[in-house]
Amino acid sequence: MNKPVYLDNHATTPLDPRALEAMMPYLTGQFGNAASRSHSFGWVAEKAVEAGRRSVAELAGAAPQEIVFTSGATESINLALKGTAGVLAGKGGRLITAATEHKAVLDTCRSLERMGIQVTVVPVESDGRVDPRAVAAALTPDTFLVSILYANNEIGVINPVREIGAVCRGRGVLFHCDAAQAFGKIPIDVEADGIDLLSLSAHKLYGPKGVGALYVRRRHPRVRLAAQIDGGGHERGMRSGTLNVPGIVGFGAACTLCRAEMAAEASRLSAMRDRLKSRLETELDQVYVNGSMEHRLPHNLNLSFAGVDSEALLMALGDLALSTGSACTSATIEPSHVLRALGVPDGRAHSAVRFGLGRFNTAEEIDYAVERVVEAVRKLRQLSPVYSAQQH
Ligand SMILES: *Cc1c(COP(=O)(O)O)cnc(C)c1O
Repeated sequence: MNKPVYLDNHATTPLDPRALEAMMPYLTGQFGNAASRSHSFGWVAEKAVEAGRRSVAELAGAAPQEIVFTSGATESINLALKGTAGVLAGKGGRLITAATEHKAVLDTCRSLERMGIQVTVVPVESDGRVDPRAVAAALTPDTFLVSILYANNEIGVINPVREIGAVCRGRGVLFHCDAAQAFGKIPIDVEADGIDLLSLSAHKLYGPKGVGALYVRRRHPRVRLAAQIDGGGHERGMRSGTLNVPGIVGFGAACTLCRAEMAAEASRLSAMRDRLKSRLETELDQVYVNGSMEHRLPHNLNLSFAGVDSEALLMALGDLALSTGSACTSATIEPSHVLRALGVPDGRAHSAVRFGLGRFNTAEEIDYAVERVVEAVRKLRQLSPVYSAQQH
């Protein structure tokens, strides 16, 4: 067993060695610019990019021409939100999103608000899911975009995307979905799900960092975007800049692997995740699950250990790479905006830990994690006046 044991696969995943192998030629001899039309270096690179584009499109149920390569999901989200605002919203259009979105969406919305866009943030249910009826109720005649994430990065909760897509389609409003966590882990189909724009990231599915994509629907309806990066007119004018050829090749290889292995991997990881959960619940009392267990990514678990400060717990678990999932810096100990949106009390939010299992985790590692967490929680609870008081 290699230590530290990596259980933070929602933050990023290791590069699959098979994706690296596919990338190697393009990091060495095949260094051409995919936009070079006058020689074979360019042709080889362009062919590799188009193969990558097909793999990404296939995993989303899209056509290759609908994939725009970017530097990652953050950039894709910025392009989707600001790009549609630029075309569809003069001053005063409305964008609808949810309280549990990633900062890449929420901060982009804040930036759009400064430009005169109205933003409605729909609350979520106590299980962390967005109610499609709440989205329907929030729609106004001037709404140009609904942006709801596919699956949450902290609690792994999967939204009723297909129902939300149907609501948007019924009202003629564009639907953007941040699928950085869900893509490659659960089946996604932009047609069946009624998605018009889909943000994707390679490093969350065992591909390389610094590359991602935005799916942009081409028919029924054709989505138009205002480019946010101008230059040589790459990616059909939607995103200029020399393409990251090795990154795109690695992204494509990662998508092909996910497509072939998704079902088997999901059942293997959910079995390990369920074993982790039941063993922790057996060994420790007052363990709470945050968010729906039924509608959850197969590799996610988010637990609160009553009486234990999660930062102290992570500190005590030096040889386990875990996270609270919230992007709180050490200076501000605000509880996660996601747990707060679920109505999780502050005490429980401060004791929340995210377990993110991944392709390369073994059963032995999970058993080791159980032992270490149980030991550390017991030790910290002995020191906790709040927890001790509750026990007497
Ligand atoms: C990681 C993540 C992002 C940002 O993706 P990058 O490719 O790292 O920019 C956006 N949304 C969610 C839900 C994520 O998990």
